Order: sequence, then structure tokens, then C-alpha cells
Amino acid sequence: MNNFYVVIDAGHGGNDPGTSANGVLEKDLTLEISRYMYDRFKERGIPVSLVRSSDETLTSDERVRRILNAFGNGSNVVVISNHINSSGTPNVAEGAEVIYALRNEPTLAQNILRALKEQGQVVRRVYQRALPNDPNKDYYFIHRETANTEPVIIEYGFINNKQDLERIQNNYKRYVNAIVDAVIETRGSSSNVHIVRPGDTLWSVAKMHGLTVEQLKSLNNLNSDLLTVGQVLKIQDNTNNNINISDSTYVVKYGDTLWKIANMFDTTVEELMKLNDLSSNLLSIGQILKVKEGSSFSNEYIVKAGDSLWKIARDYGISVEDLKMANNLTSNVIFIGQVLTIPTSRSYYREASVIYKVKQGDTLFSIAKMYSTTVDKIIELNNLDNDMIIVGQLLMIP
Ligand SMILES: [Zn+2]
Repeated sequence: MNNFYVVIDAGHGGNDPGTSANGVLEKDLTLEISRYMYDRFKERGIPVSLVRSSDETLTSDERVRRILNAFGNGSNVVVISNHINSSGTPNVAEGAEVIYALRNEPTLAQNILRALKEQGQVVRRVYQRALPNDPNKDYYFIHRETANTEPVIIEYGFINNKQDLERIQNNYKRYVNAIVDAVIETRGSSSNVHIVRPGDTLWSVAKMHGLTVEQLKSLNNLNSDLLTVGQVLKIQDNTNNNINISDSTYVVKYGDTLWKIANMFDTTVEELMKLNDLSSNLLSIGQILKVKEGSSFSNEYIVKAGDSLWKIARDYGISVEDLKMANNLTSNVIFIGQVLTIPTSRSYYREASVIYKVKQGDTLFSIAKMYSTTVDKIIELNNLDNDMIIVGQLLMIP
């Protein structure tokens, strides 16, 4: 079941105390947190390694060497570097931050931050940081020098904020337990698992992943409806929803980064930022980005075996109705070899002014009501073949 490894890095150590305030040294608190975290991963059966288990001085090179030697340098290695923050003025800044690498998606960092928030910690943000003179290189060596691993730096809070520090000291075990869950669940979702949480039912888990209870039970050979907290359930990932509208625009999906999108479209982060007048590299889901300047996108499609109007419309993120209109079709019948004009989607997208991400508990009816529209219109606009929607799905709202 385990397809990933964890390396825990207790920040600083030995001659390098990190930050200090209120009688606490960062290196001591990160070690305490890291040891506890190590035991929790071990308990859960995840292969885990601790970079230092005592008050040891480590050069950055030696730290990196240990990280990469633990389980290799592949993307199946999660590196968690534990730190405590500090700010210029005591008792002002507070809360947790998670920093992730330029090469990675923000998902893991976001889930860790959410876990901290759920446990009552004040949270600030997740972010990436590049070298000022090279936007393609990470600022922090723990991101930059660790090959293809997925490293996150967790700053639990501010050592020179008394309240923040006390919160960490009193609650770090709860924080760590939740982080461990978040890591397993995030990494699990790519290998299709769900870890049962308090309050989960077969029904809620099935719904969350776009499955029926029967499918979920048969996937897991369950004979009863009882779940236990921490139980690992196999799921199918039905949540991949790709809507790219044309060659020159891109709709931001869950997990996207500017860096990833730039790579996808053979461009650079700077170019994307310029093209879209972005002042930061934060993206929001559903955001529409220009990815090419004034490119003429191919707007012809030759019908292949197995195609249907519905399938083609879906592939291009347009509605069947628009596709029919652009081709003066009066029926849904198409022929292999037929050349279809794909309507350019910019004007289309302007009409679809809202993109909505489905949350747990949503129904098409509740969404329609929220936006004063109808279920039928949403179904039509999104080429849905029934009224089933799944959490995380992006819907265009007329
Ligand atoms: Zn630090």
C-alpha cells in the first residue's frame, strides 16, 4: 500500500540554534516535534527517516546528503523540514506557514496548513520562493538541492510571539498527528486511498470520491458498513477534471502552479506573469490564464471513430449547442472524417462568468439556486450527462 517515503528534517542543531526567544531555542523545539512526528509515521507503517535525532551540527551539504540517502531522490520521497519562525518585532506576527518547492504542486502544503488550522493553530499562507536572480531556482536549499523529492518547510509559528509559541508547545502533538494524516491522505490520493476520519461514513466517503456505496464496498471487499478511524480505503480517483478551452488560454486546476503551467505550455513563469498582468505567483482555481500571445489556435477538428458531439464538446470545454451552432448541425449525427469547426472559446468563456468548485454537500439544485439559474442550464453548459457532481469538480455557471 505504501508508495511513498518520508524524511523528517529537524531544522538547525548543534552550533546552529536557529532562532530563539522566550527561553526557547528553535533547534530544540524542532527536534522535539520531529521526533514525535517520526514515531507517528512509523506507527502508521510509513517508511520514515529522521535527519538528526540529537543536538547535532549539520552543514547544509550533510543535511542534503542524509535526506537523499534515506530513500533516494525520487518524487516518492516527502521531505518535511520543521522550523519555528521569527519576526522583527516580538508578539506581532503569528501563525503557521508552509513553503513548497517550485517543482511541486501546492496540494501537500495546502493540506498541511489546513490540518494545522483544523487543530486550532493560526495559519498564514503556503508559498514558494525563488532566488531573486533566478526565478527557476528555489530560494531555500532544502527545496533547491533535493532533486525530485517533494520537500516542504513547515514554520509552525513565531518563537518571539509568546502566544504563538505557547500554542505550539501545548499543542504540537495534535498538530503533528493532523499533519501526518494530511501527508498520508495527500500522498494516498494519488494512489487512490482515503483514510477514515472521525465522522466519516461509507456514504460520505463514497460521495466525496464520486463513488456509490456499493462500488466503495466492493473495491474494499467490505462485508459491513462499519468503518474505523485510520482505516485505509481504496478509492477510485474520479476527480480529474480537465477543462482546457483553447491553445491560448488555460483554466487553473487544483494543484496547478505557474511553474507547472509554464512548463506545460513551453513558456516561462515571467512570460506568464507578464501576459496576465500578475503581480504574484498565487493562482486561484478556475482562474483563466492567457498562455500564448495572440496565437491563432487550430479550430478545426476531424471526426474520428468513436467520437460523439458530446465527447468533442467536452474535450474542447464547449457546449454541444455551441458546437452544433458553429457547424450548422441540425442533428447530433456526425461522420468519421467530417471536419468540424471548433468555436473559439473566448467569447464563450466571457458568457460563463463564474466558475464554481463543487464542495461537499452541494447538489446541482443547491448550486443553481445559489446563482439564480436552473439545473438544466448548468447541465447544458457543462455537458454533464447526468446530474451527478463530485467534490472538486469545476462547473461553469451561466
Ligand atoms: Zn529555522
